[in-house]
This record gives sequence, C-alpha cells and structure tokens, in this order.
Amino acid sequence: MGENILSYLSAALFVIMNLVSCETTPVTERKQVILVSDEQMDSLGEQSYKEILQKEKISQDKAMTAKIVSIGQAIAKASGEDYKWEFNLIDSDAVNAFCLPGGKVGVYTGILKVAQSNAGLAAVMGHEVAHAVAKHGAERVSQGLIVQGALGAVDIAMKDERNKDILLGALGIGAQFGVLMPYGRKHESEADRIGLIYMAKAGFDPREAVELWKRMAANGSGGMPEFLSTHPDPLKRAAALESQLKDVMPIYEASKKIPTTKL
Ligand SMILES: [Zn+2]
Repeated sequence: MGENILSYLSAALFVIMNLVSCETTPVTERKQVILVSDEQMDSLGEQSYKEILQKEKISQDKAMTAKIVSIGQAIAKASGEDYKWEFNLIDSDAVNAFCLPGGKVGVYTGILKVAQSNAGLAAVMGHEVAHAVAKHGAERVSQGLIVQGALGAVDIAMKDERNKDILLGALGIGAQFGVLMPYGRKHESEADRIGLIYMAKAGFDPREAVELWKRMAANGSGGMPEFLSTHPDPLKRAAALESQLKDVMPIYEASKKIPTTKL
C-alpha cells in the first residue's frame, strides 16, 4: 500500500492531464471533455463516410443533389468551419440525415417529403452540421473510451478493429450503416439551437424549422432514429425552437434572405 498506488495515481493523472482537452461548444458555450484529437475524429468521419457511401445507393437525381449541395454549402459557410465539406444525397426511404466529423454530410431522399422546402432542408442540415461543429461525436467517443478504461491508450483504442462498433456507435452510426442512433437529449437540443442560428445566418427563414418539427411530429415515428426519435418529443422541439425565434429573427433579417421555395 502507499508508494505503488501513489505512483500509479500520479502516472494516471499525468496521462489524463495530457489527454483531456477542455473545449467549448459554439453558441451555447458548454464546456466539454474531449479525449480525441480533431485529426483522429476527422479521419474516423472520412473513413465511415466512404463505407456508408459504398454501401448505400447514391441518388442519380442531379437537380435535387445540386440543391442539397447548394443549401449545404450555405450552412457550412454560416458555421464558419473550415472542413473538407462533402454533401451526398442517398437514395433511401429513411427519414434521415447526418453530418460526420470533418463535415461529411449525407441526406436521405426519405427526408425530402418532410423537409418540403429549401428552408426545411436548411433546418435539417443546420441541425446535422451543428452536431459536427459542436463535436458531439468526439464527446461520445471520449465517453465510450472512458467507459472502456481506454484512457491511457486512446491512439491504440482508436485503431483497434475490435473497438470499431463502439467508435461508430459513438458517432451515431451503429453497427448497421445507414441507421443512425439518436444522440442524447442534451446534444439534440444543442444541435437544434445552433442549427437554427446557422440557417438564419445562411439566409433561410428560421420559422421554417418550427414548421419542420411539426411535420416530423405529424409524420409519426416510423423507426427512424435520428429524426423521429422519441426524445425530445418533436412537438416540444418545435416549441423550444419557437421560443428561440425572438433572438434568431434579427440574424435572419440581417442576412441576404433566400426566398422559401418548394423542393
Ligand atoms: Zn440530431
């Protein structure tokens, strides 16, 4: 007892001090504990994106893809993040969309009928981009590594194939590609709030985000985790977004407004 434990503790503390970087989310300014570097997360995002795109069917609808890219680029610009952005439209009935770390965005054709307009789609993409910019994936990977006791060996843990499911799960991809696991309530509300600001900055009417969530609620929960997850309730999200409009409308009014048009 004594010396061994003390030296172990001081070594552990040394490792933790070196690994933990305290970051702050944009807009909400929430402090985060992040154990993985941006480079690690970006490469994980890039690799997962490639695998998803290989497995899924890329839409051949050139006009709709061009709309996705254009709205996505406007949101990306509003985020101020200098990622290697990529946007793809995936041919699937899933009412879903994602943005992986490093700015790799996928929109499923199934969400278009709920998005309905360019502004509705901007609300969807604003929300997804906000997950990435606020490093929600990195936070979840960090929590996963802590649970695993892999604190001292983040590099090795990140490269270990056996940890792949944990890492992808933390990214929200789950074992089965194309099915995104819902983030927790805290991350969802935060992505809603940040995304609302991004869409307003980009010139899309933020009131359309409220309408989007009402349509999501009316669409029912067809088992599409990211957007029809039961928590938080879509109508509660709509109400929360509505209460934020008074702060966000001035941002929209000051932007180069883009008229809302049907998709
Ligand atoms: Zn989300």
